[in-house]
Amino acid sequence: MDLDRIKERLAERQARRGWLDEEEAEMLQLIALTESRQKKTIGYLQDLAHQNAINKGWYEEPRTFGEMIALMHSELSEALEEHRNDRGFREIYYEGEKPCGIPIELADTVIRICDTCGHLGIDLEAAIREKMTYNATRPQRHGGKKL
Ligand SMILES: [Mg+2]
Repeated sequence: MDLDRIKERLAERQARRGWLDEEEAEMLQLIALTESRQKKTIGYLQDLAHQNAINKGWYEEPRTFGEMIALMHSELSEALEEHRNDRGFREIYYEGEKPCGIPIELADTVIRICDTCGHLGIDLEAAIREKMTYNATRPQRHGGKKL
C-alpha cells in the first residue's frame, strides 16, 4: 500500500467520524513529513532535471559523456563571466522572463549534473554522502595542500 492510499483512507475516516485518533494523526504527520523530505532530496531534483531534459528533446539523439561534461563546464564559465561583468554573488537579474546571474549559472551547473546522473543511473545523493563521509576523515588541508 502506498502513502497516497493510506492518506486517502485516513481522510475517509476523518470525514466519516469527524476526527482522527492519536495514532492516525501521527501517521498523517509522518506521511506529510516523508513527502516533504522526498521533495527536497537530490534524487528528486535529479529525476525532475532529467525528465525535463527528456521532455525538451535533449535525448532524441545520443549524447556522449564528454558532451555532458563540457556542458557542465560551460555553465561554470557562464558563472565566471557574470563575475567578470561585476555581477554580485547573490544577484539575480532578468532578461525578459529569463533569470540570470551567478546563482542561476551555478544552479544550471547542478541541473546539468543532476540530468547527467539521472540519465546514467547514478545515485548522486548516495555518492555525495559517501564522499562527504570520507572527506570528514581527511587530514587538515588534505595533508597541507596550498589550494
Ligand atoms: Mg546557463
